[in-house]
This record gives sequence, structure tokens and C-alpha cells, in this order.
Amino acid sequence: MAQQFDVVVIGSGPGGYVAAIKAGQLGLKTAIVEKWLDKDNKPSYGGTCLNVGCIPSKALLESSEHFHQAKHEFDIHGISLKDLKIDVKGMMDRKAGIVKQLTGGVSGLLKGNGVTAFEGKGMLKANKVVEVTLHDGSVETLEAKNVILATGSVPVEIPPTPLTEGVIVDSEGALSFDSVPKRLGVIGAGVIGLELGSVWKRLGSDVVILEAMDKFLAAADQGIAKDALKYFTKKEGLDIRLGARVTGSSVKKNQVEVTFETAEGEQKETFDKLIVAVGRRPYTEGCLDKGCGVDLDQRGFIQVDDQCATTVPGVYAIGDVVRGPMLAHKGSEEGLMVAEIIAGHKAQMNYDAIPSVIYTHPEIAWVGKTEEELKNEGVDYKVGAFPMAAIGRAMAQNATDGQVKIIADAKTDRVLGMHIFAAGASEMIAQGVIALEFASSAEDLQLTCFAHPTNSEAVHEAALAVDNIAIHKVNRKKR
Ligand SMILES: Cc1cc2nc3c(=O)[nH]c(=O)nc-3n(C[C@H](O)[C@H](O)[C@H](O)COP(=O)(O)OP(=O)(O)OC[C@H]3O[C@@H](n4cnc5c(N)ncnc54)[C@H](O)[C@@H]3O)c2cc1C
Repeated sequence: MAQQFDVVVIGSGPGGYVAAIKAGQLGLKTAIVEKWLDKDNKPSYGGTCLNVGCIPSKALLESSEHFHQAKHEFDIHGISLKDLKIDVKGMMDRKAGIVKQLTGGVSGLLKGNGVTAFEGKGMLKANKVVEVTLHDGSVETLEAKNVILATGSVPVEIPPTPLTEGVIVDSEGALSFDSVPKRLGVIGAGVIGLELGSVWKRLGSDVVILEAMDKFLAAADQGIAKDALKYFTKKEGLDIRLGARVTGSSVKKNQVEVTFETAEGEQKETFDKLIVAVGRRPYTEGCLDKGCGVDLDQRGFIQVDDQCATTVPGVYAIGDVVRGPMLAHKGSEEGLMVAEIIAGHKAQMNYDAIPSVIYTHPEIAWVGKTEEELKNEGVDYKVGAFPMAAIGRAMAQNATDGQVKIIADAKTDRVLGMHIFAAGASEMIAQGVIALEFASSAEDLQLTCFAHPTNSEAVHEAALAVDNIAIHKVNRKKR
């Protein structure tokens, strides 16, 4: 007989597991279906983010940054090290340990909140019936009052560079190299390409990033993107080639020759490994039965309204499988909103205050509008910027590259955007998110007391600079 639930969630990434926990907390009888098997064929929760995304990549970014600093920066602190070497296996074991701890933690949280877990593949049928094919091949039928689809996304593959075991890999493969490639190619200078390129560059690879677009980080504020490109190419030594469209590849003796077109014509480069990081696409394969009634849009995303309701009443979709930025925290917030709505509460999400972060060094982080967007919208705005070079804490940290930039409405003074290129920008940007969420003015930030010495003082000074009253730099214009 079919088991009955108030809510059945398909997918346990940061969208699905958060939705399930919240639904459990709200007293709804909740089930979650997850098909993920780890490399030892053991079920694992947490989706892309915990298994092969946000968390393992940040573990490697952290390890590689320590190595880079030890090799190149400790000497200015008066610390000298001899015979420094990287133990790639040790670094990978640490990463695996963090993943295990977190995925196990999600399993515990689901149990602790009364969520019933089904380990296998879920398929939505008509009338909110979910059929689960468990890993042992048996089938369970679940009847749900509400269904939340949270099936996430997978890497996009491109015909010129088909994945080839050990040589041409996607982001998942790039998190598991067993040694440092001498020459590494990366296709795509987006978030994932830059982060993974940075990991291996810091460990000693010669890294070439091929990006088809002429513009670097088109979604970011272009003032910040310009600073970042200069730093990555001149100081970090990443070889970033914009306007380079990959057209083919051939694998020979564990190396890959990549052909690409630039304004100068056809070019070739040979790499020991090639990472394809050209984006991700929504994943719904095998999840939507023909009769389930859920519509997809032209790009394969599940079609939803502002509150994540699909075209079928009682069926919702959240996270990477729906429109909007493919970010873990965006999916989690949607999960919380949908669980509240199902419980009969009023809930909505502020899509205008979702932060974006690129975990390079220095980090790039932003929230709200860029100058380019505001210009296009014809909004009259004012800008304040403050360089990290004038921040005492940043000097103490030897991390004086970058700036904080705040954009405010010229008439109302309301903060419209915050853009940061600085060490620790991922933490600092939370201040911009709170400013946007609370509809703060630049003056609100000006009147706030920031701890000294901290890098966040640059946020305070940038807010002051919006009105040309920064204290620790000479203001160009009169008030
Ligand atoms: C290398 C890398 C680094 C990243 N770094 C960051 C970062 O720093 N910050 C950030 O915000 N985002 C980051 N992301 C993106 C982030 O991982 C995703 O935005 C996030 O995981 C999306 O969450 P989700 O719940 O929508 O889907 P997913 O995390 O993709 O989870 C979907 C789950 O659904 C399961 N599933 C799918 N179909 C079925 C089915 N039919 N039955 C049962 N289960 C099913 C899948 O097995 C999977 O576990 C990164 C991604 C990558 C690849």
C-alpha cells in the first residue's frame, strides 16, 4: 500500500534538505528521496553542494592558499620554511573527511526532525504520487499532499571536449586529481573555472583559462571585474584568455591538445589535464513522468512562479532546477519559503538580496545592482569606494589588494549594491545583504560603529565615500 505524506521532497541538496527539515519542524509529515551514491557506493545526502561542489572546493581552496602563503608570503613575516612540499593525498583526505562529516550531519538532521528518508530514484507521477526505485531495485509508492522538486543541476558538456577519463574532466573530476598537473587548461572563466584554476595554480600548475566571452565576469560590477582580472593575470599568474572559443580537442598519451579560435585566428595548446567548467544545466532526467503535468521552460528549467509553485497545484520546485542564480543559499531560502507556504503561512523571498561570491584570493563578492545595471535602468546613483590598501588590518594581513564599493540611490540614499574585491569578501558581503534587506541608506552605514582594526572598516569608509566624507582617504569632490 502507498505510504502517505504531507510533503515529499525529491533531492537532498541545499534546496531539498533544508525544505525537508523546515517542513518537519513545522509539524508536516515529510519524506525525502535521494539517489546519490558516493564513490564507495554508499548513499550520501547534501547534493552537489556538499558532495562535489561548494564544500570540497572550499576545502581545497583553503589548503592550497595555505601552501601558497607558506611558499610565497611567510618570508615577509620573518618565517622561513625549508623543503616545503604538498601532500596531495593528505589534502584530498582532509577534503573527503569534511564532506563525510557534513553529509552525515545532514542525514542526522533529517532524522532528528522526523523526516523519513528513501534512498533511491524518485519519479513524480500524476496526482502527486512519487514512485521511488530504491537502490536494491524494489519500488515504494508515496502519496503526497505536496511535492517539492529539488533535483538540482549537472555540469554542461560541450562537443569539442568530451570528458575523457583522467584527462578531460568536469568540476567533479577537478576536485580529485591525485597529483598537481604540470600544465592545466580550464575552459570557462566563470566562478567554478576561476576557483578550480586557482586551487591548482597555487599548488604549482601552469594554468591557462580559455573564455569564449570578451568580457571578464560579465555579471559582476565591471570596475571590480577589471581590478580582479588585473590581479589574477599580473600578480597570481593565471593566463586568462578572453575571446577564446574552444573548437576541438584530441587526447594523446595522457595529454590533450585543445584547439581554439581567437581574434588572431586558430590556436592550439597542450595540457596534462583539462577542466571543462562552462556552466551547469538543470537536471530533471527520469524524475518527471509524462503524465505528471509539470512544465519545463525552453532551457529545461522547471517552470515556477515567484513562490516556486509549478504548473501543478501542490507541486513546487526549488534550487538549481528553477530560474535564478545557481547558488546553494538561494535554493535553501526557496526551500524555507516553500515549506512555510505548505504549512499555510505567508512567505516570500527577496530575490534582490542574494549575494554572489567567487572564492578566489582575493575574493570577489557582491549583492544588489551593478553600475552597469543601474545605468541601463536609467537610475540616478552615487558611488563610494574605499581601497583595502588604506586599511590597517589588511596591511597586517598582507592583503591590501582590492576595494569595497557601495552604490546608493542619488535621491533616496538607499543602498542599491555592494561590490567587494578583497581578502575575506565572502564574510564582509553579509553587511551589504543586511543593508539591502533592511533597506538601509548609505547614511545608516555611515552612522554605524565598526570594530577597529577590521577589514570591514572599508565598508564603513565606502559608505562615507558615497557622500565624499571618507575619513581615511582624501575625498576628491567637495560635499
Ligand atoms: C565545484 C562547485 C562549487 C560550487 N561552489 C558554490 C559555492 O561556493 N556557493 C554556492 O552557493 N554554490 C556553489 N555551487 C553551486 C551549488 O552546489 C548549487 O547551487 C547547489 O548545490 C544547488 O542545490 P540544489 O539543492 O538545487 O541541487 P543539488 O545540490 O544539485 O542537489 C540535487 C540532489 O537531487 C538528487 N536527485 C536528482 N534527481 C533525483 C531523483 N529523481 N531522485 C532522487 N534524487 C534525485 C541529486 O542526487 C542531488 O543530490 C558550486 C557548484 C560546484 C559544482
